[in-house]
Amino acid sequence: EYDGTYTRAWIRRFAESVAATEPELTRLDQRAGDGDFGTNLRTGLALTLRELRALPAGPLPASAPLEATARTFLDGVGGTSGPLFGLLFQELADAVAQAGPALDVHSLAAGTAAGLAAIQRVGEAQPGDKTLVDALVPAVEELRHCPPGTRPDQALAAAARGSWQGVHSTALLRAHRGRASYLGERASGVPDPGAVGVALFFSTANARVT
Ligand code: ADP
Ligand code: MG
Ligand code: MG
Repeated sequence: EYDGTYTRAWIRRFAESVAATEPELTRLDQRAGDGDFGTNLRTGLALTLRELRALPAGPLPASAPLEATARTFLDGVGGTSGPLFGLLFQELADAVAQAGPALDVHSLAAGTAAGLAAIQRVGEAQPGDKTLVDALVPAVEELRHCPPGTRPDQALAAAARGSWQGVHSTALLRAHRGRASYLGERASGVPDPGAVGVALFFSTANARVT
């Protein structure tokens, strides 16, 4: 339980969700950017699905599908978001690999926090700049507040709730980073597409909402 079978199904659900949401993500990035975010994320996940199919059959550590996702995004998914999502997946994969063959709440919290730190090191966005950082900060907070021994799916459900609150907050903000910052007030009322992508990632960890 919570080994590579779980994370592989998670990434597959994430890919399906993004494919279904691509038109919305595109519309959001058209309102606040250049309109390619939905395509960037969907294409990255389509490439990732091919990598997942190439993983060996049989038992896999939880980190392996996350690692394959990270490599795909870091190796050449376009836009500003491609490498930034790649950093999140890489830090998550590394923390989860260190902890052992299965997910646990501690490595999820540590990996997500390390992903946020890496993204801020590279992109220099602060909370409130109307970027995906605004969805990651509350996800990290939720994961940190889970008691030790919290089931990974419950911890990830909490992270998803936090990240959707973050998405909501971005709709009220004016962008200070990325292309959306060129638009000033015109982008207010529109949630940040990258933040929506982060919330979809945490939301798809669970097949059923509990
Ligand atoms: P591009 O602007 O290169 O077309 P994408 O469309 O792929 O980039 O991704 C846009 C998303 O990237 C935004 O919605 C925002 O969440 C995120 N983003 C942009 N700049 C930054 C940054 N400096 N730090 C964190 N996230 C950022
Ligand atoms: Mg864009
Ligand atoms: Mg672009």
